[in-house]
Order: sequence, then C-alpha cells, then structure tokens
Amino acid sequence: MQESPGLGFGLMRLARKDGKINTDILAKMADLFLERGFTYFDTAYVYEGSEEAFRKAVVERIPRDRYTIADKLPAWVMSDDRSPEDLFNESLRRVGVDYFDYYLMHNVNEDSAPVFDKYDAWSFVNRMVAEGKIKHLGFSCHGKPPLLEKVLTEHPEVEFVQLQINFMDWVDDNVRANEMYATVRRHGKSVTVMEPIKGGTLALIRPEAKAKLEALGTGASVASYALRWVGSLEGVKTILSGMNTLEQMDENTKTFADIRPLTEAEQEAMKACREELLAVPTVPCTACRYCCEGCPAKINIPGMMKIYNALLVYGDHPGAHFMYGREQQDGSGKLTDCIKCGQCAGVCPQHIAIPDILEKASAFLDK
Ligand code: SF4
Ligand code: SF4
Repeated sequence: MQESPGLGFGLMRLARKDGKINTDILAKMADLFLERGFTYFDTAYVYEGSEEAFRKAVVERIPRDRYTIADKLPAWVMSDDRSPEDLFNESLRRVGVDYFDYYLMHNVNEDSAPVFDKYDAWSFVNRMVAEGKIKHLGFSCHGKPPLLEKVLTEHPEVEFVQLQINFMDWVDDNVRANEMYATVRRHGKSVTVMEPIKGGTLALIRPEAKAKLEALGTGASVASYALRWVGSLEGVKTILSGMNTLEQMDENTKTFADIRPLTEAEQEAMKACREELLAVPTVPCTACRYCCEGCPAKINIPGMMKIYNALLVYGDHPGAHFMYGREQQDGSGKLTDCIKCGQCAGVCPQHIAIPDILEKASAFLDK
C-alpha cells in the first residue's frame, strides 16, 4: 500500500492587507498547519513578498527542524548580470535559512529549458546538492510531454517533479496531466501536485455537476473529493494547496488527517461529475489570435473566450472574475469597449460570432 500523500502549504496566494502579505494571518495558519502534523511549505523567488513573509511568520519563530521549505529558481529573471547563484543566494537571504529542503527549477517549459542550459543552472544546483544546501532537487513543469521526457532523460538526478494535476486537467488537451504524470512515473520519480483544485475553481462548480457527488451522501465538499482524487494517484508524495484563510487551512488539514484513496463508487461519481462539467458545449476558439490585431478596442479576444468557456463549464465563478481583472491589468480592453465593428468575426477561421459571445460574457463579468 502506498504511503498517504502529505499536504503542502502553497505560499503563492497569501492574504494581503493594503497590498502587503498579512503575516499575522500567515503565522496563525502556519501554527495550525504544524500543530496538525504537516511540515511542507512552498514558496518561490517570484512569489512577490512570499519568501520574506515566510521568514517573519515561520523562520523567525519556529525551530528549523520543525518545518521543511521548498523554493524555486526562475529562468525568466536570469541574465548575464543575475546568475543562478545570485538568485539562489538571494532566496536564502530572503527566507533566512542556510539550506532548502526542496529546491526546484521553476516552470521548466519549451521556452525556459534553453535558458536554464544557457546559464548552466543544472550544474549549479547539483553543486548545491553536493554542498548540502539543497536536500532534494526537483523541477516544476508546465511544458508538453516530449519536453518533460527530454528533461528527465538528461537529468536523472532529480528526485521529484511538480505537475499541475486535477480531475479536470487530467483530460485537458492543453495541460495533458495524464500523459505528464505517466512520463514522470515511467522515470520512477515522485510527484508533487500543484493546482489540485484548479486554483479554487473546482471548489465551486455548477449544481448539476455537484449533484453527482452529493448523491454519495457523505456530505463531503467538492474540494475534499478533488484533493482525494489526486491523492489516489500512486507516487504522489505532496499535494500543494494555495490556502489564504484559516478556514481553508482547517478544512484541508482535516481532509488530510485521514486521507483515503477514493472508493470505486467515489471514482465513478467523480467521472460522472467531470462528464457533466464537460457536457456543456464551449466556444471552439483555437487561440490563433487572427482576430486580435485589427480590434480597435484592443480586446484580448482569445483570453476572453477562455474566460467565457470557464464560465460555461464551471458556472459564474470568482475565478473567472479574477482572470477578467487580470486581463485588464495586462492592458486588454474591457468587454464593454467592443464597438461591434465585426472585424474580428470576419477573420475568425472558426466562424465564431465573436461580438455576440463577448456581449454574453459581459453580462456575467461586467455586472
Ligand atoms: S467587434 Fe468588438 S471585439 Fe471585434 S474587432 Fe470590433 S471592437 Fe474588437
Ligand atoms: S480568430 Fe477565432 S479562433 Fe482565432 S483567436 Fe480569434 S476567436 Fe479564437
């Protein structure tokens, strides 16, 4: 029987007050997490303020042997003036420790893999392992299966791979979580799971899909089923959850106190839930971006199609509003800026009635 996976406290979406991470709440959450027997914290150089907040809330209060910390090396901030060594040392300083229990190449994909090679980052992290400054080496990956296969073949020294896995992305054509997982297991590595609840999206799903799980009569939440679904996969050692309230910490630590693989009936119910979610026809946008250049309102049309599809599949959801807000921060026009000129629909190879779809999306997102 495989060992039960542990819960990891993801420090990416921490609660903020006036733009700053609220270290009082973080300290309370960390105390509850540790009190209930969990130890794995996950931060990264690029999670703004997270490393320093962890130092204040945990490192400066709690003995080093009571917790483990994972940190990550980003390729996209490396340059001729900022070597892997500079970034690693800066992370050690920010966190206030002299070694990392887990250290990962952050987001290895088709673009970043050559950058890690260019700056000889793999040789550097292997040296840190030899010097005891990294206890366990891994990488997180959002690339495609052939790239994952290549990196695992070239770097047999890694012990674990962090992958985006949840019961919906398992069958998603972009994420291809099932193939990614199979590749890692074929190389005999353990798996750390990120986004087990798909950034919170799977906690709140359409009532028709939720009903498939409610029919089991256990009263358990969709989020707890989603966590147990990934926990039922062999070789999964840690499941990260980006918690930001004490309530989430309470619920997740309770789920993990006695995490059991799903029963056959529960697996069937999860499948039925997924089928229900996928039964809704979505907009067949291929993200080719032919429609973007000529849009006078500068709307990121494929981005909006993606958000609208999430609304169709999961229901009106805070996650969709969050994504919409982020699009605008990135400079995209608002849906209400559309002047219905029709330029976009005229060039769309999928013949999508874009202005009509944008109007429907706006009814949800601009209310
Ligand atoms: S119809 Fe709207 S979305 Fe399409 S090109 Fe014109 S302004 Fe942009
Ligand atoms: S042209 Fe059509 S398929 Fe291509 S990105 Fe725009 S909406 Fe999507």
